[in-house]
Amino acid sequence: MLARLALALSLLLSVCGVARARGPLVVIDPGHGGTNTGAWGPTANRHEKRVTLAIAKRLQRALRKQRPDLRVALTRRDDHYVSLQSRVRRANQLGADAFISIHLNASPTRAQHGFETFVLSSQATNREALRTASRENERQLARGASAPGADAAAILADIAQRGVRRASLSLAQRVQQQLSKARRAAPGRGVRQAPFDVLMGLTMPGVLVEVGFIDHPSEGPELLRPAVQRRIAEALARGIIAYLASAQSHSSAGGVARR
Ligand SMILES: [Zn+2]
Repeated sequence: MLARLALALSLLLSVCGVARARGPLVVIDPGHGGTNTGAWGPTANRHEKRVTLAIAKRLQRALRKQRPDLRVALTRRDDHYVSLQSRVRRANQLGADAFISIHLNASPTRAQHGFETFVLSSQATNREALRTASRENERQLARGASAPGADAAAILADIAQRGVRRASLSLAQRVQQQLSKARRAAPGRGVRQAPFDVLMGLTMPGVLVEVGFIDHPSEGPELLRPAVQRRIAEALARGIIAYLASAQSHSSAGGVARR
């Protein structure tokens, strides 16, 4: 009797799709939102927060299409403010396997263009990387600044120890590689590091990607085109999936498991 009940229950669950194989979980973080509008493109006449959300939703679709067993969550699905700390908390609570924060860049001269992928570090790669982190963190960073809080050094030491930093670099390299293939006309600015608050305290590999400059006269309007957003999202999805596959093969080959 009990066996029959269990069988009936499992059949019901599989019909409802509940008993599906549970693959890795990716948390996508569309930068900014609500009163925090992000950068603004004068020629594109659009705020960063709207473009990051559009690309994030396309990325969710691309991930599910390219690898249907993946679970995907967004830190926001509409135009409202979410603090950087609660984005990190959400990803940690969900037990994500990878975290990607999507942003668009801006430069003082509006002359820069291209894409770059960041990993967390207490020290920025250069002055430009520090300026980008200052803008995205909603606070000014002095030269040589670290992340906020007295325990910042301890958190950074901890992620280094647990291999999260190495895995984040691997994720960043794959994302950047795929963007380079998809965006041949735009220059790849490489994998860089800086003290980004939205990567601070993550317990899983995480990157922040600046997919292009919204204030550049030609790149800005281009980033609003649905076809370009789709190409970017598909490239990000390929990068994330390649990373997850390599992480999986490392852990099944006896490498250090993330958790
Ligand atoms: Zn941003």
